[in-house]
Amino acid sequence: MTPAALQQTATTGPTLTVDVTAVTANVRAIRRLTAGEVMAVVKSDGFGHGLADVARAALAGGATRFGVTSLEEAYALRDAGFTQPVLSWLNPVDSDFGGAARAGVEIAVPGDAHLRAVARQAPGARVHLQLDTGMARDGAPPEQWESLCHTARRAERAGFVRVVGVMGHLACAAEPGHPANGRGRELFDWGVRVALGAGLRPRDRHLAATAATLSDPRTHHSLSRIGAGLVGIDESGSVRLRRALRLTAPLVTVRTVPAGTPVGYGHTWTSPRATRLGLVPVGYADGLPRGAGERALVQVAGVRRPVVGRISMDMTVVDLGPDPAVCPARAGDVVTLFGPGDTGEPTTADWARWVGTLEHEFVTALGRPRLRRVVIGHGVTSHGVTGQGEQAAR
Ligand SMILES: *Cc1c(COP(=O)(O)O)cnc(C)c1O
Repeated sequence: MTPAALQQTATTGPTLTVDVTAVTANVRAIRRLTAGEVMAVVKSDGFGHGLADVARAALAGGATRFGVTSLEEAYALRDAGFTQPVLSWLNPVDSDFGGAARAGVEIAVPGDAHLRAVARQAPGARVHLQLDTGMARDGAPPEQWESLCHTARRAERAGFVRVVGVMGHLACAAEPGHPANGRGRELFDWGVRVALGAGLRPRDRHLAATAATLSDPRTHHSLSRIGAGLVGIDESGSVRLRRALRLTAPLVTVRTVPAGTPVGYGHTWTSPRATRLGLVPVGYADGLPRGAGERALVQVAGVRRPVVGRISMDMTVVDLGPDPAVCPARAGDVVTLFGPGDTGEPTTADWARWVGTLEHEFVTALGRPRLRRVVIGHGVTSHGVTGQGEQAAR
């Protein structure tokens, strides 16, 4: 293939476009709601949008630091040239904390074992003590908190760690009226008092992620850890954020079929009337949930049309309807599977709803390994393949 032909292929295939200006706008919108700092949580490849692209766009919107759930992600930020503070939580106790500290990465400490490991491997490391504020997931159980704070203070006096933060996390922030939120807030306030009482002076006190930041100022403290909100997901439904993703693909073929034509694996759908079927070269290997057939809609030739039959590994069938005057779609036309919703196209929230999942799950599953990824905004357009963090042009 000539370079021109390659380029042609590249511009007409399935394409996931990431508009990083949405990320910047979202951070700005969130910053207007809180006096605290914004930590951009760019775990899971920036919620499937691209770690470095989301990180850069978040800084442009006023985020001042990063949060990740593995040291690998922290190093990826450093390798990409980001010098801001990075906090990593969820690290196994035998992680390379020495390497983390040398890279200037702050470490969450959910208990004595982590504290000992950090003190041994990375004397002087900056740590955030992590309190379980009601999830029974990550963080020290409240009954171990006092002891953890005192042990940490002793380690700090001996020069083994510096406790720069205290963190908690709310289980039910997406439901602002849920009683667990009040309990979580009180537990966190207690946790901070205990830390201060033990002689610790944590400058960073953080409880809120996106939903709590948007819906409850009492959770704000000195900083918010924002992940979903970066990419336009607001579970609390209280603020209008902007989605950054658009997935498009060409119609490979359009065919006319008679009434009674079964479609796809398992023949789960049969055409009730003569109709036209369009074939879209995107499927569950690209992150579309297989079960979304017959509930999902896509936009083609300006109208919403239903997905029919089961979604296959790399293709999806759309019922274009019998009437070309209503949906004048032809082979080669671009189908929008989702976008920010500006022109009536579905959004990733619609897709998540159609399969009964969270938008977070839907967006983090997208993209590997076939979708071409294009980043737009901030005066750059770059191309690459998702899942590889690659960008061919910059
Ligand atoms: C993922 C995560 C966040 C970010 O949460 P969002 O709701 O996506 O903003 C914050 N804190 C912790 C501990 C997390 O694991």
